[in-house]
This record gives sequence, structure tokens and C-alpha cells, in this order.
Amino acid sequence: MSGEARPGGEAGGGGEARAVVLTEFGRPLELWKLPVPAAPEGGMIVAGRYGGICGTDLHLAQGHLEVPTPLVLGHEGLGTVHELDPGAATDVNGTPLRVGDQVMWASSIACGACVPCRIHREPTLCENRRTYGVNRPTDQEPGLSGSWAEYICLRAGTTVVKVPDGVDPVAAMAFACAGPTMVHALHERRPVRVGETVVVQGSGPVGLAAAALAQLSGAARVILVGGPEQRLRAAAEIGIADHHLDIAGADDPGAVLAEVLALTGGRGADLVIEATGVPAAIDQGLRLARRGGSYLVVGQYTDSGDTTINPHQIVHRQLDVVGSWAFTGAHLVQYVGLLPALVARFDLARLVTTYPLEENARALADVAAGSVMKAVLAG
Ligand SMILES: [Zn+2]
Ligand SMILES: [Zn+2]
Repeated sequence: MSGEARPGGEAGGGGEARAVVLTEFGRPLELWKLPVPAAPEGGMIVAGRYGGICGTDLHLAQGHLEVPTPLVLGHEGLGTVHELDPGAATDVNGTPLRVGDQVMWASSIACGACVPCRIHREPTLCENRRTYGVNRPTDQEPGLSGSWAEYICLRAGTTVVKVPDGVDPVAAMAFACAGPTMVHALHERRPVRVGETVVVQGSGPVGLAAAALAQLSGAARVILVGGPEQRLRAAAEIGIADHHLDIAGADDPGAVLAEVLALTGGRGADLVIEATGVPAAIDQGLRLARRGGSYLVVGQYTDSGDTTINPHQIVHRQLDVVGSWAFTGAHLVQYVGLLPALVARFDLARLVTTYPLEENARALADVAAGSVMKAVLAG
């Protein structure tokens, strides 16, 4: 096998693969056929069974983030090994890989050379992250560098991890991006401690992953505040969180917040986790934490603008306010390692709606409308 990608070549992967391509911001995505290269040196070609859609993809498609085009979208995925370079004989845990094995991969590769990587020991804050489905356009080789495609070419340096036997791949996709995002937040930034009362703001995939991991971590009680109502119901049906409060559809949000406080015994939660992406949620979240508690802010991944807070709430409550950004390969590996425990407790597959690649427009519209919990394209 050659170390070079071979556009249109017959060898190696060979043939062509369909891929969902962002060509112009704000325009419908296009279904292209791109050449399947041979496995690159130290890397592999993976047949993309599933490519998840997350809120970030909506922002990318609209041009809210600066990314190069044309671009095969999809930064979260699960597939089967199609062709391996001899330099990619094992996954990151040292487990031998074979053609046909189910794997997940980390979307980003940190550079290992910038100041955050080398000096601050914070690879999540790398200044030169290369991310599949985000900043690997089709005019760079190889074009197949996103998960919304029949094949993806994973280069040397990608964190690839085998999915444990017996884990339903659809269930694994439920929190493909949200899961490692919350593993990073809870492992590195502010853990859930045994016996704590936790309030989670937001009932999208990140909020549900936060609640589910809080439960696995030994929280005494998890209160989920979000909406719309069908999302809260979906969480309740599979046992995620103990209490479910609809603030999105409430006539009087203040009454909902009072109810949350009452559920914490009137003092507020030990830990409040923000997973809404809505700036106005921050002032509410500060008031839901107990004095001496913590506020972990995860959901403000895109800049949605300023908001008003009362800083006295931070000082008087003596809060630890902690931000958490993205994740690295290590957190994906931890998420995959948690999957057997997660799927044994929660029927995560029920959160997922799958769509064929050609129905990407419908899938994105459903995500934008919030009518599905987790949309996944099936390659
Ligand atoms: Zn770096
Ligand atoms: Zn994502």
C-alpha cells in the first residue's frame, strides 16, 4: 500500500464514494462523488456507517464559523475498517485492528507544537487543530475527510478506537460529540461528586449526556431543565434525569426556576451544568447554584452574543464558574470505554433518528427545528 492518496485510482480503496459537501454558505448541501484513496501511511480508510449531525454543523453550513469550502461535512462518525496501512495495525488502546472492525475516531488532531499544546498542556485549546468535517476541504488531499460520506480517509495521528463488542453502533452515535464533550468537562474541569444534586440546563444531546454521566457518577439527584417538551419526555422515557422541567414552553420561566430551587431544598444545586447555547441561560444558572457551589458552562460553543448577569450572584454565592471547551482524542476514548455502562443503563438508540445521505436537507431541517433529539446520516 502506498503512502500517497491516489485520486481516482483503482488501487487501494479505489472507485468513488458519495459525500455530502458544503460548497457555499447558506446554500443547500450537494451530494458529490469523490475518489476513494488508498490508505495513507499510518492511517486507514473507514467505510462510514454513521455520521452524526450536531448543532455546530448548522452553524458551519450557515457560515457562522470561518471554514474553508468545498468541504465534506461531519466531525463525528462511526464506521468499519475498510483498508489499513500496516502502520495502523492497532487502535489507540493497542487492540489489533482488522478489516471489518467497528471504530470511532476523534474529529481533531492537536498540533503538539503550539503554546497551549506544549506549555499549557491543554491540547483541547490547540491553536492549529485539524478537524475532520471542519477544516479539511476537498481541494486538499484526500477530499474524503468528513463523516457524511460512504468512506473517510483517516490520517496518521488520528485517535481511532475500536467500539466494544455488543455495543449497538446507533446507540454509540447518540452522544458521539456530546459524550466526549461532557467527559472532558466532567473529567478535567469540574467532576460530579458522589451524592451531589445536579441541575442541567438544556435538553439537547449535550444536556442529556451531562445528565446521564452525572447519574453514572453517583449524583443523588439530577434535575433537567429544558424543552421543548418532547425532548424532556424522550429523556424521561429512557431514565435520564430524575426531574424534568419545561422552561422553553413555560409562560412564566420564573415559576419554573422557583420549582427547580424548591427541588434542591431551597438552597440551590451543588453543581449546575449549562448546556443550552443560549446566553440568557447564564444568569438563570447562576441563581440555581447553592452558596459555595459550582457552575460548569459547556453550551456556549458558538458566540451567540452578550448577556446581562448580576456579578453579585457569583460573589455572594461564592461560586466556582468554570468553562469547558471541546475535547481531545483521550476524551473520545473514555466515552467509548463508558459505552457498555451507558447503554446498559440507558436505551440511547431511542434518541437517534437515521437518514440516508441523500436526505441530508431533511435531516438538517429536523435538527434546526429541534424535532429530533439526534440526527445521524447513514452512509
Ligand atoms: Zn497545538
Ligand atoms: Zn459536534
